[in-house]
Amino acid sequence: MSEHNYDLAIVGGGINGCGIARDAAGRGLKVLLLEQDDLASATSSWSSKLIHGGLRYLEQNEFRLVRESLQEREVLLKLAPHIIQPLEFILPHDSSMRPAWMVRLGLFMYDHIGGKISLPGSRGVSFPDQQYSAGLKSSIRQGFFYSDARVDDARLTVLNAVSAREHGAEIRTRTRVTGGKRVGDVWQIGMSNIDTGETSEARARGVVNAAGPWVKQLLDDAVHVPMTATVKLVKGSHIVVPRVHDQQHAYILQNDDKRVVFIIPLEEKLSLIGTTDVHVKSVAEGHQISKAEITYLIHAANQFLAKPLHEADVVWSYAGVRPLYDDGAANPSEITRDYVLKTDHQGGKLPLLSIFGGKITTYRRLAEHALEELSPYFPALSKAWTGDEPLPGGEFDTLPEAIDALAITHPSLPIDYLSRLVRRHGTRAEKLLKGTRAMSDLGELFGAGASLLSEREIDFCIREEWARKPDDILWRRTKCGLHMDEAERSRAATFIEARYLALV
Ligand SMILES: Cc1cc2nc3c(=O)[nH]c(=O)nc-3n(C[C@H](O)[C@H](O)[C@H](O)COP(=O)(O)OP(=O)(O)OC[C@H]3O[C@@H](n4cnc5c(N)ncnc54)[C@H](O)[C@@H]3O)c2cc1C
Repeated sequence: MSEHNYDLAIVGGGINGCGIARDAAGRGLKVLLLEQDDLASATSSWSSKLIHGGLRYLEQNEFRLVRESLQEREVLLKLAPHIIQPLEFILPHDSSMRPAWMVRLGLFMYDHIGGKISLPGSRGVSFPDQQYSAGLKSSIRQGFFYSDARVDDARLTVLNAVSAREHGAEIRTRTRVTGGKRVGDVWQIGMSNIDTGETSEARARGVVNAAGPWVKQLLDDAVHVPMTATVKLVKGSHIVVPRVHDQQHAYILQNDDKRVVFIIPLEEKLSLIGTTDVHVKSVAEGHQISKAEITYLIHAANQFLAKPLHEADVVWSYAGVRPLYDDGAANPSEITRDYVLKTDHQGGKLPLLSIFGGKITTYRRLAEHALEELSPYFPALSKAWTGDEPLPGGEFDTLPEAIDALAITHPSLPIDYLSRLVRRHGTRAEKLLKGTRAMSDLGELFGAGASLLSEREIDFCIREEWARKPDDILWRRTKCGLHMDEAERSRAATFIEARYLALV
């Protein structure tokens, strides 16, 4: 048993926990973040990977959320240009869908509600169009163009943790919080290492419950603090298929049940199709896509695609659980996507702040609101700062400039490999490649082309980014696993396991 003293203990290493850790550490708090598995191992890597206002939330009168999200889209595009990029959307349209005037009105609001935007505004498009109707049925004669952005969700989470550490936070992964109670002037937090079973304790003046889908479980079973607020667990699933068209834009499809389904370019040669909305009773129930969901997504896409998709085209799928704030809506698609913060305290001391709901897009503002909520308990907190400091690796203006800069210092490495490294690590790729000249300096290599993964990068992920298991690297810190065949994945996995043991 060991004891340490912190200002703030944060439970949960998803985007919200890591975002709050970064913000709080930068404002001078001594922060400990505890994650039971890997960073971003839950909802924060199961998303549609969009930094977006959420066009359809306008229909649900979620104006606050849409405004904040669109403002954040502008901020995040600047803070993390390596992992967040603009994405063009096309909304195909015909007379059976929401009327065109309604779509135009929605898009007008979408262009203006967040204030000044740097991305191209919306407009109508007539089909056929060489670019924007690629892959669509020829019967679809018109559509609308608008802008949003995409993100590498898992890397966004990890980079927030890296920044939090740079500002003094301590991050412990594979550490489950098993209990917590107020004792005298401190919170005593009990935890156990999920690999070794070793238990320990930490003391903190405040606790943040950023356990995502487990938020209520942590309150009920670990810290035993009753709270009336509750979460609705809504499963959302995605399928991945070979690219349905060779252009760079995404489609937002109006399905016949009035929901929308996205088709988003993923990596170089794949399309991501999602999502579903299915109530589940437990997180465990939400881990796998069902056959009915695959059928639903394929049906939705095939209403629009010239070349129909079949189940056999699905190369990967994933499912995740949205931890939505329970606002009483019966239809899963209509439950608010906005976040709600609830604070419990004892005599004006020892706060426990719990987070319900939220989106990846709004994590930074959520963190700022969390810190505002905590400020009475930590009067020395300095002011908000995270909107101005790029995330690690994001200190550049445009991707081509960053790739060119890396190519100048590493002229013998293939440009497409350097480009992929920049898209994962930004300017930190210099550190990753330090001292290397040729591919032979990168150690053992796994996969090829889009899946090329080097010993150098594996070591970097283990040393600098808390990677511990093969999945942490193959599916989260990189997406190389997606492009490897079974034999390549297995060889890389064996290597990563051994490498971890050798390095730590
Ligand atoms: C299908 C789907 C699509 C989505 N698409 C988008 C999108 O395109 N854009 C967008 O902005 N948002 C999207 N979202 C929403 C977004 O993904 C979530 O709001 C966000 O990831 C929630 O982050 P979190 O940190 O609250 O939760 P999580 O990422 O789930 O993190 C919580 C963490 O707490 C840990 N934990 C739990 N209990 C304990 C414990 N006792 N001890 C230690 N650790 C613990 C868990 O292991 C987990 O890692 C989507 C969500 C889903 C499900």
